[in-house]
Amino acid sequence: MDNLIGLQNYDMNFQKITAKKEDGPIKIRVLEQVIEKMAMELTEGDQQIQDLKLSRRQYEQDIASLQSQIQKSNEKIANIKSNKEYEAVLKEIDTFKNDATLQENKVLEILLKIETLEEKHEKDKEILNQKKLTFQKDQKLIQLEIQTLDKEIALLLKDRKLLRQEIDPLLLKKYDSLREHKGGLALTPVIKGICQVCRMGIPPQKFNELLAGKELMSCPHCMRLMYLGEDNSPEK
Ligand SMILES: [Zn+2]
Repeated sequence: MDNLIGLQNYDMNFQKITAKKEDGPIKIRVLEQVIEKMAMELTEGDQQIQDLKLSRRQYEQDIASLQSQIQKSNEKIANIKSNKEYEAVLKEIDTFKNDATLQENKVLEILLKIETLEEKHEKDKEILNQKKLTFQKDQKLIQLEIQTLDKEIALLLKDRKLLRQEIDPLLLKKYDSLREHKGGLALTPVIKGICQVCRMGIPPQKFNELLAGKELMSCPHCMRLMYLGEDNSPEK
């Protein structure tokens, strides 16, 4: 029975280490996704800045063409004879000037937006670089941890194999089958007459037989092989 308890410890340890080993790649993937998302947002931000710069150039072209129209109107004034014509040209110049002012305000607005976005962009770039550095460090640590776990697993499997060789093959078969059908746990400690896995009480007569320790017994409820757990004192 001691060998079986040892074997169950190995098997439980094996499960724990394997689960821990699977955590590593999951953690790496999560970190990768965070960085991918940030990089994507950064590209989007950059595109936004490029778009604003483009519309700024378009507004500036509009302003330039308005200014050349104002200049042409001013040149027209020199050759004007009638008052009515003169007023019409002045009105025209006014309209051009108003348009130009509107466009200039838009350019200012865009310049402010670009400035704010570029500041944010620089900061985000800095944060992303930091994240990438942290990620590389974390990745190395996780890979080292996986290597350590691999060594532990190899050692565990070797010891487990040796231990299995010392156990009666029939018993081993029973253990493996129980393990497979009972959620990885083939053995159960019994403390004060209670099966510690299914938490059911063992009938007194059976419990006394277990205390006598003559043969291997199964929990009548969950069918796992019973052994006396620690902290067990014979009752009555
Ligand atoms: Zn039980």
